[in-house]
Amino acid sequence: MRYEGTIYRPPGEWKSYLLQVTVGCSHNTCTFCGMYKDKRYRVRPLKEIYEDIALARQYYGSVKRVFLCDGDAIAMDTEDLLAVLNRLWDTFPALERVSAYAGPVSTLRKGEEELKALREAGLARLYLGVESGSDGVLRAVRKGVGAEEMLRAGQRIRQAGYDLWVMVLLGLAGRGEASREHGLATAELINAMEPHHLSALTYMPVPGTPLGDAAACGAFPVLSSRETLEEVQILLENITVKPLHFTCDHASNYLPLKGGLPEDREYLLDLIHRALNGEAGIRSEEQRGL
Ligand code: SF4
Repeated sequence: MRYEGTIYRPPGEWKSYLLQVTVGCSHNTCTFCGMYKDKRYRVRPLKEIYEDIALARQYYGSVKRVFLCDGDAIAMDTEDLLAVLNRLWDTFPALERVSAYAGPVSTLRKGEEELKALREAGLARLYLGVESGSDGVLRAVRKGVGAEEMLRAGQRIRQAGYDLWVMVLLGLAGRGEASREHGLATAELINAMEPHHLSALTYMPVPGTPLGDAAACGAFPVLSSRETLEEVQILLENITVKPLHFTCDHASNYLPLKGGLPEDREYLLDLIHRALNGEAGIRSEEQRGL
């Protein structure tokens, strides 16, 4: 398969054929993110994408899941994205699901009819990096939208019939009252957006990014394991969406947590309490890859 640069995908897409339709991220200014800093954003020509699909057909034969890379495939021109989706469904008879990351700015640029047309053409799941429900935090990390626009982007995705998977970032606001407000505002936004899945990842400083450099010189406080667990606790205590598939088991997380809400809430909170009391182990910095 032909890929340009490092390829990222959500953990849940480990079985998917990764098709690079865009290179990099159309936004690429978030202060905490270093994923696509080495790539200049561009949309790959349809001819190249079709060639890749034909190669995948030869190499894999049958494909059931496809994830469209890179960081914000929804930014691609709607007509071109429809053409890619049609080509995928024509090429792979056993195809069940096509997914992609959706940046909030690109999502809001698409009309409701465009989002629906893409859904009807077989784009089924969108991953939205919400990061925080706090307007101040979103603006500080240069996400490109505030909390209200982020909510609108998520609601548009839901209303168009997608399986919406939201990611939030623990530790993005710093410690103390800022951490508490970040947790509460994030729970509030999730409750209003009503995604089907929520992944809470933990912020890990990336050298060479504005926030990573601020963390390295002590200008941005990185949460301890205890402070991070207290933030997850705030999230779990205040999220009321049901049903919700909740995961906090990414490599960046101190304590792997996973379950359905509301039925597993007490069990998950008990795990956190035990970890806070030292009765359950948490991942070391080494295990988290630091
Ligand atoms: S929109 Fe996503 S991929 Fe792009 S810079 Fe921000 S966090 Fe990174």
